[in-house]
Amino acid sequence: MKAKVFDYYMMRLYKAAPVWLQRLFLWYVYRPYRQDLPKDGTAPIFHELYIELRTRCNSTVCRFCPAVKGADERPDITMPFEVYAKVIDQLAEINYGGRIAFYLSNEPLIVKDFPRYVAYAREKLPQAWLMITTNGQALTPKTGRPLLEAGLNMINLNLYNDDLEAPLPEPIKRFEEEVLQAYAQQGRVQYQGSRHSAQGQPVDFVYNVNRRLATEVLTNRGGSAPNNLGDHERQRSPLGLCDNPFYSMTITSDGRVGRCCSDHYIHEALGNIKDQPLMEIWNGAAFGALRRALLRNDRPAGVCRVCDSAGIRWSRQNSWQERFLKNLTQ
Ligand code: SF4
Ligand code: SF4
Repeated sequence: MKAKVFDYYMMRLYKAAPVWLQRLFLWYVYRPYRQDLPKDGTAPIFHELYIELRTRCNSTVCRFCPAVKGADERPDITMPFEVYAKVIDQLAEINYGGRIAFYLSNEPLIVKDFPRYVAYAREKLPQAWLMITTNGQALTPKTGRPLLEAGLNMINLNLYNDDLEAPLPEPIKRFEEEVLQAYAQQGRVQYQGSRHSAQGQPVDFVYNVNRRLATEVLTNRGGSAPNNLGDHERQRSPLGLCDNPFYSMTITSDGRVGRCCSDHYIHEALGNIKDQPLMEIWNGAAFGALRRALLRNDRPAGVCRVCDSAGIRWSRQNSWQERFLKNLTQ
């Protein structure tokens, strides 16, 4: 109760304050999150890599996503296998064991020869966690089975609908019955889980089903979300630190590296994997300048300036700073 009153008055005071005072206050709010990060713009190797193999989605329903079919202004490009293989080979050289997510703003199951991409990563990166998030519209026994055989570790199935009680589509039911159950009988599937079991043991394959409203209003994706374009107020009074570029790397299908998964159109790429080794981009000047600006609570022009994401992972549960940022952004 006391915390709620405290939070209420703090937010009122914050909203009434002039922009310069708000920014000073945000400096203080983000302090605990800033202090663990290197101050010189460097970062240890990322542990999340998002690779967008094709810039397309087959969904027409998600009101919050700039990739929704018919609205996406990007050309339809698929990453050539040779370009992809170059990235995986570079990761193999450093024995990468983090996450590889085969999506960014797209639907991975409509990538031609997708199991081939997964199998190559599995062969070269035995320790990596290979995953997709899919809307499931193309998930059938025929598309799902080769992915499990290729060594995929996780399917996050996001069922976007206006009705959260809608029955599971038949092709997905058949995938579950004809493919998943056989794996489950061998004890290889964890339902609704993460990379590690509740006991902390590594697991082989995780299958998560999430029912989500297609009408949700999420973050503004740097001003590109169709139902939340970002307000001018946010540009005058941007949020502060964002730790995303300290642990996550995103590559789209023409090889460009963006700031984060909200950087849908990537107007200012941080590099291109066709021209430069991956780690050179990660440790390069553009990434360094972005991180240093964010450490100064200075969200750079472009997507960061309008972005309404708090920019931190919710890890310091129930600290006043975390409660404040949640109230401010959610
Ligand atoms: S949220 Fe996913 S399924 Fe929906 S339009 Fe965007 S990429 Fe497609
Ligand atoms: S501030 Fe927003 S747009 Fe910029 S890197 Fe962070 S999450 Fe991405």
